[in-house]
Amino acid sequence: SDQLTGRVVLVTGAASGIGRAIALAAAQAGARVVVSDLQPEGEQTARAIVDAGGEAFFVPCDVADAQAVEHLVAETVNHFGQLDVLVNNAGISGGAQLAHQLEVDAWDRVIAVNLRGPFLCARAALPHLIAARGAIVNIASTYGLIGAPLAAAYCASKGGLINLTRQLAVDYGPQQVRVNAVCPGYIDTDMGGGRARLGPAGQAAAQTRREANAARQPLGRQAQAVEVARVVVFLASGAASFMTGSVVTVDGGCTAT
Ligand code: NAD
Repeated sequence: SDQLTGRVVLVTGAASGIGRAIALAAAQAGARVVVSDLQPEGEQTARAIVDAGGEAFFVPCDVADAQAVEHLVAETVNHFGQLDVLVNNAGISGGAQLAHQLEVDAWDRVIAVNLRGPFLCARAALPHLIAARGAIVNIASTYGLIGAPLAAAYCASKGGLINLTRQLAVDYGPQQVRVNAVCPGYIDTDMGGGRARLGPAGQAAAQTRREANAARQPLGRQAQAVEVARVVVFLASGAASFMTGSVVTVDGGCTAT
């Protein structure tokens, strides 16, 4: 489809998982895509888009680094001349500890990537998004809506991102910048069950985790990343023209129970 034709879309954390799927889906919908990630493998996402006849390039960036984020947005606008859509997808889970056993540095890093990162990216992108009457899509989590075991920093960061979404919608609505959040449930990625980077023992553990995750949702399975990506493309597009400040779960009914 041509939902994003003429649009320039910047996706953070697009080397793997949901971010990679969003970058590919945006390109398929006609967007020119800036692929960003902390890891150099982001280059492969950009190459996949170009090989399929799309337009994309890779910019390495740690979203927690204010200077690096300024550079990322400057590169985007230098290269494509505009920025229409920011997808704040980069995120980390930050391990599994009880709050009283969690290292303060571990807390700080999760908040830095998952909450400070989207703020920094929005801060740098908004002047361009205002000019473009563009949109932000924040990838939060069902864990930003409910309390989950052994995930204090993660739950706090995603809950913060959800209300940052609403807050930005309030301030930038008058300038016609829409800001929405997607809350994925259990998605089959390195973070949400694990595949690619795991050895045989890890693969077996990942399969057990996938089955446990599947049992937690009415639809009875873990989702593929593209099932989140399609909703992100919709929210980024004119088809969602009256949606802002919305928090959309893509969780197989998980939080409905
Ligand atoms: P993933 O680990 O496969 O991908 C995350 C990407 O972000 C990686 O490529 C990683 O290199 C990158 N990244 C990490 N720290 C970064 C930083 N500081 N700067 C730039 N890039 C960085 O995980 P995923 O499952 O695809 O997760 C994507 C988003 O979806 C995250 O925000 C995550 O919290 C959210 N989410 C995932 C699930 C799930 O079940 N997989 C569920 C809910 C929400």
